[in-house]
Amino acid sequence: MSNSLITVAYIAASALFILSLGGLSKQETARRGNFLGILGMLIAFGATVASAQVTGYGVLVSTLLPGLAIGALLAARVAMTSMPQLVGILNSFGGLASVLVGFGSFLQAEAALTGVEATIHDIEIYVGVFIGTVTFTGSVVACGKLQGIVSSKPIALPGRHFVNLGMLVAIAVLLFPYMQGGETALTYLGISCAIAAVLGVNLVIAIGGADMPVVISMLNSYSGWAAAAAGFMLSNDLLIVTGALVGSSGAILSYFMCKAMNRSFINVMAGGFGEGASGPAAEITGTATPTNIEETVELLDNAQNVIIVPGYGMAVAQAQHPVSDITKILRKRGKQVRFGIHPVAGRLPGHMNVLLAEANVPYDIVLEMDEINDDFPETDVVLVIGANDTVNSSALDDPNSAIAGMPVMEVWKSDSVIVLKRSLSSGYAGVDNPLFYKDNTMMLFGDAKQNTTAILAKLSESATPSKVLTTA
Ligand code: NDP
Repeated sequence: MSNSLITVAYIAASALFILSLGGLSKQETARRGNFLGILGMLIAFGATVASAQVTGYGVLVSTLLPGLAIGALLAARVAMTSMPQLVGILNSFGGLASVLVGFGSFLQAEAALTGVEATIHDIEIYVGVFIGTVTFTGSVVACGKLQGIVSSKPIALPGRHFVNLGMLVAIAVLLFPYMQGGETALTYLGISCAIAAVLGVNLVIAIGGADMPVVISMLNSYSGWAAAAAGFMLSNDLLIVTGALVGSSGAILSYFMCKAMNRSFINVMAGGFGEGASGPAAEITGTATPTNIEETVELLDNAQNVIIVPGYGMAVAQAQHPVSDITKILRKRGKQVRFGIHPVAGRLPGHMNVLLAEANVPYDIVLEMDEINDDFPETDVVLVIGANDTVNSSALDDPNSAIAGMPVMEVWKSDSVIVLKRSLSSGYAGVDNPLFYKDNTMMLFGDAKQNTTAILAKLSESATPSKVLTTA
């Protein structure tokens, strides 16, 4: 394929990626956004394979086929609850690819480059290997935290800020002997890579609990910059553009996450939630009030305004379908039913929106926290389905709580709250929740799918339920 045709294909692919990102910003257009992204990637891949740069077709096919098979199998088999870990590990692959491209470019130095061009190329390799390594090891640790192999609590080593700073300085200093070239340059690149690997682990292991969403989106952003660095090393304009798109959209997402958590980015990177506490968290007293299916259905029947607040437990239980059917029945009976979604509910940005869309819940009744938080005082019943940290009142009431200052769904301001979960245990951030002990809160213990299915069955039983249940 001629160079000009490849340039045209690359421009078309870049445009499709931008349109894809635009589409992904809204639920209604997300499917189209995904399709445009796939189309862009097919064009990009086809043009690259057809370019003069690619000659080893045997190697390409022998790596492509197993890659395709493993990717398809993983995507088909992964449970929705393990999706965040999959995203984490895919970010790490992006970083690792950049490291391998860096070492490959170093070992196969381009003889055509001399003077300033050669110097710039060497710096590109050094920076690409650095970003790629931090992304790789940081993403592996993040994946371990999400999978529960590594503790989700912040593991802060003493003096870690100085250690991290020391490592950054060492990597910067090693650039000089590396740039001298010669036989030892590879050794310096290797040492810098090893230091960056420890830095990646140290940076992510110290962040935990409720700060994890920011870390995930930040690592996503890093993987984009790592790809852009690989694009510079390979002189591939499309890879530079695509990497920059991923890098900047990940950075914007990190910014929104920080805003949603009422945290500054530097604050998140400097340490875990709760480091500013001046004493122990307040002791939670009181007893939780258990409830049952009959009482829950009666409350729903007598309610006019209902808000459903889903969380990670709904994803674990896969309760979105019965929840959607309950919503349909209540709406048919003339009640106002809406969903309130916290920006970090679940384990992925948009996790709850994806589940509700899968269960055909209409988009217009799914509202963001900012859009619905003021409506709780006028709400009769709130159903909290497997949410915990995102409805934890200690974030607002206890300055010593480990999640103090994080905006939460203020569900306790409604008339009645029914919490569907299996026990009184804490959520991902490991912070006890005073909501469970409030006077207007009732606990419907058990698996969320079983309980929502039972609520649905009971609701469907009676055609004129309010009369049947209230006179019973
Ligand atoms: P939480 O993780 O705080 O709590 C989920 C609750 O679901 C648990 O307390 C658990 O209680 C309950 N649960 C689990 N399985 C079931 C089941 N089968 N049936 C019923 N309940 C169940 O969820 P939230 O969504 O409120 O908060 C998300 C947390 O994850 C936040 O701390 C957030 O910062 C963090 N996070 C978010 C990411 C994102 O991008 N959204 C990424 C990484 C972390 P029990 O065991 O008693 O049933």
